[in-house]
Amino acid sequence: MTKEDDKSIPVRVALRCRPLVAKEINEGCQTCLTFVPGEPQVVVGTEKAFTYDYVFDPTTEQEEVFNSAVSPLLCGLFKGYHATVLAYGQTGSGKTFSMGGTYTSAQENEPTVGVIPRVVRMIFQEREKHTDCESSLIVSYLEIYNEEILDLLCPSASKDKPSTINIREDPKEGIKIVGLTERQVMSAHEMVGCLELGNSARTVGSTAMNAASSRSHAIFTITLEQSDNVVSKLHLVDLAGSERQKKTKAEGDRLKEGISINRGLLSLGNVISALGDESKKGTGFVPYRDSKLTRLLQDSLGGNSHTLMIACISPADSNIEETINTLRYADRAR
Ligand code: ADP
Ligand code: MG
Repeated sequence: MTKEDDKSIPVRVALRCRPLVAKEINEGCQTCLTFVPGEPQVVVGTEKAFTYDYVFDPTTEQEEVFNSAVSPLLCGLFKGYHATVLAYGQTGSGKTFSMGGTYTSAQENEPTVGVIPRVVRMIFQEREKHTDCESSLIVSYLEIYNEEILDLLCPSASKDKPSTINIREDPKEGIKIVGLTERQVMSAHEMVGCLELGNSARTVGSTAMNAASSRSHAIFTITLEQSDNVVSKLHLVDLAGSERQKKTKAEGDRLKEGISINRGLLSLGNVISALGDESKKGTGFVPYRDSKLTRLLQDSLGGNSHTLMIACISPADSNIEETINTLRYADRAR
C-alpha cells in the first residue's frame, strides 16, 4: 500500500428532504426549510444554514439521488474498494423510501424505485463491461434488532429463538458473519428477488414486534468476488429511526416512561466522528466494537472504504426539533 492509498477517504453526506406528506398537509404543517438554489445548502427557519456534499430538495427524484451521490461508489467497488451507504433520520423521514426497502417487482420500471434496485441494475451492467475477469456476486440481507442479528433471507430460522448468527473477524477475509444466508446470484432479477424476499420478511416481522422496524437496522450486502482474488463489499443500510425512543416499562403500579437511544446509532456517530478526526490528524482510536452495527460495518466504514450518509429529513415545522438533530448529526459526519 502506498502512502497515497493509506489516506482515509472522507465520509460524504447527502441531505435529502422529502415533500410534505398528506398527513402533514391535513394537519396544517408549514415548511420550515429553505433551499439555496445551486448550493448544497439548507437554511432552517430564517437563520441557521448547513452545508453538505449534496443537498436534495423535496422535488429531487430518486434517479438524481442515485446518479449524483450513489453511482460514484459503484465504480470503486470494481476496483476493489468497499463501500457503505447509510440512510439516517427520524422515523417517517424517507429512509426506507430512499433505499428501496419497500421494493416489489411490480414497481420495476417506476421512477419511485429507490437506491438498492438501482444499484443492482448498475452492478450487472458494469459487470458486463468487465468481461476480462470472472466474478461472482453474493447477497445477504439482515436486520439488527436489540443487538441481535436476524436473517431476512431465512426469516423462519431466526424467529422465536435466540440468534445463532455471530460476527467473527478473520485476519484474511475481514469481518465474517457466521450462520447467515449468503446467496450467490446470477442475474439482476435474482438479486432484486432477494431484496423483495427480505423486505417482506421485515414487514411481517414488524407487525408482530410493534413496528420494530423503526428500531432496527436493515443491511443489504452485496459481495463482489473477482477472479484476481479481490473481494469488495457494498453495504446498503436502512438505519433505525434517529428519534429518541420512549420506552414503556411497568414499575409497581404505574407505568414509567424512559428515554433510550439506539446503541447502534450512538456508536455509529462516535465511529464516524472518530474517522473524521483520523483523516484530519492521522491518528485516533475508532470505537467499532461498541455495537453490532459498527462491528459489522467495521471493514467497510472509513479507512479505504467509500461511505455515503443520506441524511433524511421532513420539511414540516412540527418536526423541526428532530430535523435539527439530524442536520447536526450529519454535520458532525463530515
Ligand atoms: P422512514 O423509513 O424514514 O421511516 P419512509 O421511507 O417510510 O420513512 O417514508 C415515510 C413516508 O414518506 C412514506 O409514505 C414515503 O412513501 C413518503 N416519502 C418519503 N420520501 C419521499 C420522497 N422523496 N418523495 C415522496 N414521498 C416520500
Ligand atoms: Mg423505514
